[in-house]
Amino acid sequence: MRQTNIRRKKYSSNYPDFTKEILSSDEGHKILNCVQCGACSGSCPVFKAMDCPPRRIFAMIREGMRDEVLLSLTPWICASCYKCTVNCPAQISITDVMYRLKRMCLEEQLITMKSDASRFYLIFLDQVKKYGRSYELGLMLRYMVFHHPGKLIRQVPRGVKMMISGSLPLFPHRIRNARAFHNMAMNALKFDNKSM
Ligand code: SF4
Ligand code: SF4
Repeated sequence: MRQTNIRRKKYSSNYPDFTKEILSSDEGHKILNCVQCGACSGSCPVFKAMDCPPRRIFAMIREGMRDEVLLSLTPWICASCYKCTVNCPAQISITDVMYRLKRMCLEEQLITMKSDASRFYLIFLDQVKKYGRSYELGLMLRYMVFHHPGKLIRQVPRGVKMMISGSLPLFPHRIRNARAFHNMAMNALKFDNKSM
């Protein structure tokens, strides 16, 4: 995945097509109604971990700041709790816009690797593409080995306990015809992109 270090400019509108794409989507068509009230940021339980509050993400989308939006940690930190969506006076589907932004990051291969959330997500996605479902042991091992090798050893006793109790299967359970599932997921992503 490509990671670009961009200089944050407050006002740039380099990608009007990006704005159009979001506006023409089911999730994003109400973005122009945003009154910048900040109710979304104020009600977000993980706001402090974000580099850019949801309110500012919408202002940046309207300005066509594609790189700044797609390289932001915010969509990856979003916990999909829907609190902002419930509180938004403009009835913008904020949570669903966050999902769309994540899909766009994957499509455009423009993903920030500064966040544990995005790194974890990519490994999770890989596992689901391979097995058709999550494989927790493989997910945890890969994530820890590549991103937190120093902490791995401390997690071993807990992992062994979970394996003994049966809550952490040793081997992956692949669904039948995982290949077809993988193709279907990839086609869905492409279709989603074209429909924007
Ligand atoms: S709550 Fe809605 S209207 Fe207010 S800033 Fe957030 S997106 Fe905009
Ligand atoms: S859905 Fe995401 S952005 Fe909205 S309040 Fe929850 S965590 Fe925050």
